[in-house]
Amino acid sequence: MNADEQILAAARELAARGECTPRTARDPVNEPMINNWTEALGDNSSAYPAVAPPAMIQVWTMGGLHPQRSDDDPLGRMMEVLDAAGYTSVVATNSDQTYHRLVKPGERLAVTSRLADVVGPKRTALGEGWFVTTHNIWRSGDEVVGEMLWSVLKFKPKPAVTASVPPLVSRDTAFFWDGTKTGELRIQKCSACGALRHPPGPMCPRCNALDPTYVVASGLGEVYSYVVHHHPQVPGKRTPFVIALVELEEGVRMLGELHDIDPEQVKIGLPVRVRYVPSGEFVLPAWEVR
Ligand SMILES: [Zn+2]
Repeated sequence: MNADEQILAAARELAARGECTPRTARDPVNEPMINNWTEALGDNSSAYPAVAPPAMIQVWTMGGLHPQRSDDDPLGRMMEVLDAAGYTSVVATNSDQTYHRLVKPGERLAVTSRLADVVGPKRTALGEGWFVTTHNIWRSGDEVVGEMLWSVLKFKPKPAVTASVPPLVSRDTAFFWDGTKTGELRIQKCSACGALRHPPGPMCPRCNALDPTYVVASGLGEVYSYVVHHHPQVPGKRTPFVIALVELEEGVRMLGELHDIDPEQVKIGLPVRVRYVPSGEFVLPAWEVR
């Protein structure tokens, strides 16, 4: 049996076990959590908190800060099988929930899980991997109140890039990269209403016009926001470095590295000017203090 067949055999065996032992929620459905949720989402429906928003279903059985999977949890087991075969990275790809009825404060839910599907190996943009789908079922007593098909891609990470990743150039962005090569910072301009926008796109978000043109920016602006990057390491760069979102004089905001400054000295409102940094086939806009 080759490695792929072993994975499929393990998947069949796990799927055949059906639902795992129910895991009971730490707390019953409760008004404080419902109020936090609806406030965070800006959902002012008067139905709450007498009932819980259906999309909270997963909240009630979250494992807390130190979750413990039960020994028969099929997702955990399938992840172990794929880890052992070298598929060590994971990304969630789909969550498909079905609600059978609303739940009310005081109900204590329990969740079970069964392995629904394992498909692979597939070539993906992230690397070769397997799509693993589990079927989660929430019950209140014996009654099923909600279900979820949860899919993840478990993949072999591609080798780390050794050079910086070039920007994606499309018909919409080519003018921008042509500009930086000639020392021009170009801002897309709607040919109908005149609105400036960045990053470039095919359609004006204000008036929906196509066929944009551009203006050349002064290259002067102020730090609108920034992050200091410490981790992870980036090939060819020394950490920490500063990535600044700069508000240009023309009113649009643009990202770039802020050079030659101690991260401690960066402040919102710091006046900066553009600097052009060759990188492979591209010239990237960056910033320096003025
Ligand atoms: Zn427009």
